[in-house]
Amino acid sequence: MIPSVLPTYARAPLTFVSGEGSWLVDADNRRYLDMGGGIAVNVLGHAHPELVSVLQDQATQLWHTSNLYNIPNQQALADRLVEHTFADTVFVTNSGTESMECCVKMARKYHVENGNPERVNIITFEGSFHGRSLGMISAAGAEKLTKGFGPLLPGFVHLKLGDLADVAAAIDETTAAIMVEPVQGEGGIIPLPDDYMQGLRKLCDDNGLLLILDEIQCGMGRTGKLFAHEWAGITPDIMGIAKGIGGGFPLGACLATEVAAKGMVAGSHGSTYGGNPLACAVGSKVMDIVATPEFLGEVSAKAGRLRQRLEGLVASHPKVFVTVRGSGLMLGIECKVTNMDVVKAGYDEKILTVPGGANVVRLLPPLNISNDDIDEAVARLDQAATAIEATL
Ligand SMILES: *Cc1c(COP(=O)(O)O)cnc(C)c1O
Repeated sequence: MIPSVLPTYARAPLTFVSGEGSWLVDADNRRYLDMGGGIAVNVLGHAHPELVSVLQDQATQLWHTSNLYNIPNQQALADRLVEHTFADTVFVTNSGTESMECCVKMARKYHVENGNPERVNIITFEGSFHGRSLGMISAAGAEKLTKGFGPLLPGFVHLKLGDLADVAAAIDETTAAIMVEPVQGEGGIIPLPDDYMQGLRKLCDDNGLLLILDEIQCGMGRTGKLFAHEWAGITPDIMGIAKGIGGGFPLGACLATEVAAKGMVAGSHGSTYGGNPLACAVGSKVMDIVATPEFLGEVSAKAGRLRQRLEGLVASHPKVFVTVRGSGLMLGIECKVTNMDVVKAGYDEKILTVPGGANVVRLLPPLNISNDDIDEAVARLDQAATAIEATL
């Protein structure tokens, strides 16, 4: 009999009832070190006192009004995002997928406004992940996402990552935009080199295309900059964010320059819940905490510590691990054994990690994780690896 929850996830047999900082607690009071952070969502850990307080306060005031009226918390969040990024304007959503849908719609509309309605095609890359709507599975194109769900949406051109010449060759008079994750997440923690990002920016500039970045996983301080593209010294025209911005409350946004957003007039796009007072109260507070040089400096320091210790871990378990890669606190350990075996061995040691493409185990911990918890995480991964070695 089908479970009452549609069985689209192969869930681990773990059930958590509370959380505090980088730790999750199950019904039997067992504590697990959460190095997955709800897939890069819990940027400030669990039950952060300031986030709890702002959400509780808002909950007693006003939950929802719709976007038929002004929403001061939405305005406050948009102002913060504009102040700290390339963007001039923001559309607030409830999820990553919706953010990317808005990005694609905006890019197509831009070209229509400019008298180039034939420019509809979006260049995307192998290994990418942009969400689960029909549009976004069509965008990513991977069979594991699309199989059985056709017909897919036309208008996406799928390329291999790595060679700018391939991208240049794929551009023609129907191309609207290039859409890419600066660090691929689901694909297995693949950071794109700075010169590749710069090359994509230049191809867009030279050909009248828009650069759309998907920073849903790699943004919001994850790499030690507020957004990952800052490392390459470039800016996008349009960018989707989500995950970390809500710190656990469902929240996303599509950010854009004034030029790129010029077709998005009243009536052109919308969302019932997007930008609701509860979500935006939390999002503004997350921005206030994360978008400071001190906080981001700490992320880089923590990242350096974790990375260094993981290099040691990999070196001492060559039968289990291959290498560490990533950026900031978005790290992937490529495994020699099956990645899921490492994730499961981690459960036995009470540490949570997330599998990713390319046989990777992802570490996406809270950005405010303590040094002690970092050291504890590596110790537990060491025990997990030792347990796996005993079975080889
Ligand atoms: C998680 C993710 C998405 C989809 O976000 P949802 O909130 O699940 O819709 C899109 N792109 C990237 C890079 C992601 O990591």
